[in-house]
Amino acid sequence: MIEVKHIIKQYPEKRALDDVSATFNAHETTVILGPSGSGKSTLLRTLNLLERPTSGTLALNDLTINFEAPIAKKEIFNVRQTFGMVFQEKALFAHLTVLKNIIEGPVQVKKESVAVATKKAEALLERFGMTELAARYPSELSGGQQQRVAIMRALAMQPEYLLLDEPTSALDPELEAQVLHVLKELAAQRTSMIVVTHNLGFARQVADHIIFIENGQIGYDGSAEGFFSATDTRIQQFLNAMS
Ligand code: ATP
Ligand code: MG
Repeated sequence: MIEVKHIIKQYPEKRALDDVSATFNAHETTVILGPSGSGKSTLLRTLNLLERPTSGTLALNDLTINFEAPIAKKEIFNVRQTFGMVFQEKALFAHLTVLKNIIEGPVQVKKESVAVATKKAEALLERFGMTELAARYPSELSGGQQQRVAIMRALAMQPEYLLLDEPTSALDPELEAQVLHVLKELAAQRTSMIVVTHNLGFARQVADHIIFIENGQIGYDGSAEGFFSATDTRIQQFLNAMS
């Protein structure tokens, strides 16, 4: 379980997160929803320390980080290792083939041998039906294929949690469907995932847990069924605006 408490992220002109507390369970898919600029990415990036909040705490495993105190390099490394992150787009190494993209982290960071990392990468590619893409370069892939490789690359590090920030919003619907298919399969296998998305259909299908953020504050935190049947005016307005 990951727990954030009383997170504040203050920019000079804007409070991006305003006293956010939430927990994220392992083996569940948590979907973060909310209007543009509400703080979704900031919250996601706080979890793997890509963002440094002004105050609050982050607890995972037996580690607790207080954002008002200095954070040791070793702690940053340990937290980052807990997560695999998939961004909106253009996150692959352009000069490396698909296979090399996938083994880069395990070899460079985890010090796995190229042979072992390659075997694991081949198994991942096989599992997701992408074996024939192994020798291609990112520029030779569709956007949907690139995103699926980005997911494989994150999985290759065997993270405890997968973080995805709008993984399909740069894609055409057809390509989006390919990526969502992979994510649905991972969710069905109880992969621990935290996904920021604007795709309500996907959220409805896979979310065990929904967090709705508005103006940097949590507007809903609970089950997917509860969210989609909420009578709260703000949630209703959001759902209407999105559909
Ligand atoms: P979107 O759906 O558009 O991706 P979001 O919910 O992910 O939005 P964030 O990116 O978390 O929103 O941003 C939250 C707020 O913080 C926004 O108002 C944004 O303008 C502001 N913000 C983000 N980064 C910075 C920054 N580096 N400097 C100042 N303000 C920032
Ligand atoms: Mg965002």
